[in-house]
Amino acid sequence: MKVGVARETAPGERRVALVPEALGKLKTAGLEILVESGAGAGASIPDSAYEEAGASIVKTDALYKEADVILKVAKPSSSEVKKLRSGQAVVGFLQPLIDPKLAAELAKRGVTAISLDAIPRTLSRAQTMDALSSQANVGGYKAVLIAANEFGRYFPLLTTAAGTARPANVLILGIGVAGLQAIGTARRLGAVVKAYDVRPETREQAESLGAQFVKLKTAIDATGAGGYARELTPEERSAQQAELNEVIGTMDIVITTAQVPGRKPPVLVTADAVRRMKPGSVIVDMAASSLGGNCELSKVGETIVTDNTVTIVAPENLPASMPTSASAFYARNISSLLLGMVTDGALTLDFEDEVTKATVIAHGGEVVQEATRKLLDPASGGSA
Ligand code: NAD
Repeated sequence: MKVGVARETAPGERRVALVPEALGKLKTAGLEILVESGAGAGASIPDSAYEEAGASIVKTDALYKEADVILKVAKPSSSEVKKLRSGQAVVGFLQPLIDPKLAAELAKRGVTAISLDAIPRTLSRAQTMDALSSQANVGGYKAVLIAANEFGRYFPLLTTAAGTARPANVLILGIGVAGLQAIGTARRLGAVVKAYDVRPETREQAESLGAQFVKLKTAIDATGAGGYARELTPEERSAQQAELNEVIGTMDIVITTAQVPGRKPPVLVTADAVRRMKPGSVIVDMAASSLGGNCELSKVGETIVTDNTVTIVAPENLPASMPTSASAFYARNISSLLLGMVTDGALTLDFEDEVTKATVIAHGGEVVQEATRKLLDPASGGSA
């Protein structure tokens, strides 16, 4: 079976689905690797490094013609979809719950669509395949560096002959994978860190990394299915907001990472809260996307400075801004997923397997993943 590594074409996407170090295991499993020329350029990996690791470098048309499986990071663009053919498989962040029409289009073309963002997060066997976690980890780290870069003061307590610098007060909202990495990174830089989440189990995790958990007087337990949070009720939201506003007003840096699967990210930092912040404070909104963000004033892809000189950064694709590490982790995730679906050098899908059932979105001309089918046809919960 031939596995093709495509060059990413989405604006600003510098990651690549496989790095040369990941080729060994795939080749041992009997797979032949084709790499589209220039695929690794954004992550500073030249074609020659893939060749040395045993891959063949091919042009775009040859890749889509010859490969049985195409590996990607971002979902295929409409022109890439047109290049995919019946019987071929594509693996990447296909975002079926955000873009179910793409799944329907791939099904119509007879393409098998396998989505890394559908990996069951709490299944321990799937941890090595968990690309959402590996990329969130990169994002949490980078968000703190961006905040430190925008901030006009030191992060650590510093006593020098020229005076003493007070440590920065950092608040992390949302203590999932990105939030935990942000806590660890901000602590390593010497900041005083507070953190808050609506899942009570995160308290211990935050404290173990040296953050103080923000306990609101209004107790909220919004633990949802699969380890995720559920959306808050309007009453919970307003109680949470009033208390959070007070905490936010005392902070120098706020990094927000809160997400609820399949919903708009919750607004945790209102325009009123931003007005209460001190001049020179910085907000990095990791949840910002075209769907909205955790800060009411975020403008996705932009950095704005408010009238009271609070800087609000809303990066669009943080993992892509650290492409070499992000690609190395992603390559490990996508290889593990693929190898779990390969028998005797060929893609063999066993729908009794929990990972296959969750991640294969389209196959045999149909959208097969239940959640995506429902989005496409809510009335019947059925076919595309
Ligand atoms: P996520 O990106 O969906 O959300 C980030 C965080 O935002 C979550 O902790 C969530 O509780 C929080 N949040 C949502 N609404 C909020 C609100 N209104 N106020 C404050 N916080 C809010 O989460 P994630 O990082 O993808 O992690 C999801 C789950 O998966 C977690 O339980 C994590 O521990 C789990 N996970 C488990 C494993 C494993 O067991 N191997 C691996 C990775 C992740």
